[in-house]
Amino acid sequence: MISLRKSAEPSILAANKERWTQELLGGNDDALVKRKYALGPIKAAIIEETNGKCAFCESKLLHIAYGDVEHITPKKWEKALAFEWFNLTLACDVCNTNKGTKTDIFDPYSDDPSSHFWFVGPFIFATPTASLAAEISLVALDLNRANLVERRGERIKNLERNLKVIVNCPQVELRKVLSEALLKNESDASKEFCACSRAFLDDPRVAAMM
Ligand SMILES: [Zn+2]
Repeated sequence: MISLRKSAEPSILAANKERWTQELLGGNDDALVKRKYALGPIKAAIIEETNGKCAFCESKLLHIAYGDVEHITPKKWEKALAFEWFNLTLACDVCNTNKGTKTDIFDPYSDDPSSHFWFVGPFIFATPTASLAAEISLVALDLNRANLVERRGERIKNLERNLKVIVNCPQVELRKVLSEALLKNESDASKEFCACSRAFLDDPRVAAMM
């Protein structure tokens, strides 16, 4: 999980959310009304601000599935927030299902995940001072599920291969360029599992080799 920032509210949402909310609160909760928060321009804006990644596990979604527009506060409990821009994000199928109608799930828009989650290799742990929401999210969303651990492990192996090339590079200038490129590319928010990569690259033993 990485820190996310809300982008500008799509005009179609700003123009219609009051009416859609009234329709929903008025009992007209047919599929059409409920799915208006996932209309093309709204979903496109959510995909852009999340870099096409699940807001919770950082899986890249666009290659395999389009993901679901997720309500940070479940619409089942807060229908009035169903069309609020600040309450919408992107989640993969698994996180979406695991989150379900749970409340108290960590909100990466309002708090910095790096203060609450630690990476040890491909595994995520809650820090000793982690919030209750972080502790709940780690378990409820199953952020160390086998598939994620395996894919984060692959990213670490890739980093190791790059690090080996850098360490064995005899030319100082080239080594510097390669180090900077590795840091810039792998730490970028658009990269899948960049929180894991950042933790690996921030390790003082790794940093000393670059
Ligand atoms: Zn996910």
